[in-house]
Amino acid sequence: MSQVLPESISPALFAERSDAIADAARELAAAGWTPATSSNFSMRVDGEHAAITISGRDKGKLGRDDIMLIDMQGKAVGTSARPSAETDLHTQVYRRFPEINVVLHTHSRTQSVASRLFAREGVVKLEGWELQKAIAGQTTHDAELSIPVFPNTQHMPELVAQVEAWLDSGRPLHAYLINGHGIYTWGRDMAETRRHLEALEFLLACELDLRSLSA
Ligand SMILES: [Zn+2]
Repeated sequence: MSQVLPESISPALFAERSDAIADAARELAAAGWTPATSSNFSMRVDGEHAAITISGRDKGKLGRDDIMLIDMQGKAVGTSARPSAETDLHTQVYRRFPEINVVLHTHSRTQSVASRLFAREGVVKLEGWELQKAIAGQTTHDAELSIPVFPNTQHMPELVAQVEAWLDSGRPLHAYLINGHGIYTWGRDMAETRRHLEALEFLLACELDLRSLSA
């Protein structure tokens, strides 16, 4: 399946984004965070477009050809490939946060279990962990970092609306969990986004340990 680029996007730029996504995907797959072709990853290409993983590919074997171009409404651009079923959750982040250039979504065991455990409260309140400072804008372990847990649904507009409602409430949002499903997080570049994802994985694992040890 070939990708035809609009004239405004240089092949070199698209290739660079595609390689960055594929590299990250293979590393996250090696960590066991993308079981059974799940998970999806994207990078902004310009104000109107993003590069995103094609649906259903094995993330452990991802290469440049497994990445496609979409517009900010989540429609495929210049290809007959099908983007991830959750593409609208990516474009929502790019539309809401102009400074954000990378969105990573994984399904690790820790993320999945934590999402179930905290679903009833609808939020994971992280407090007192030094590693909270790994999240952009967090300067102290003392602040509370809320990661909402949204109910899962196969109907994307519902999920988009839940995220939209949280954002419209004015509360900060750096990441969210979907119940029984996984995590979404984002950042200004790949390094920052990887840091967010790794910190959140660690913090969720700590919260799970605390719960099981103090049970
Ligand atoms: Zn997913």
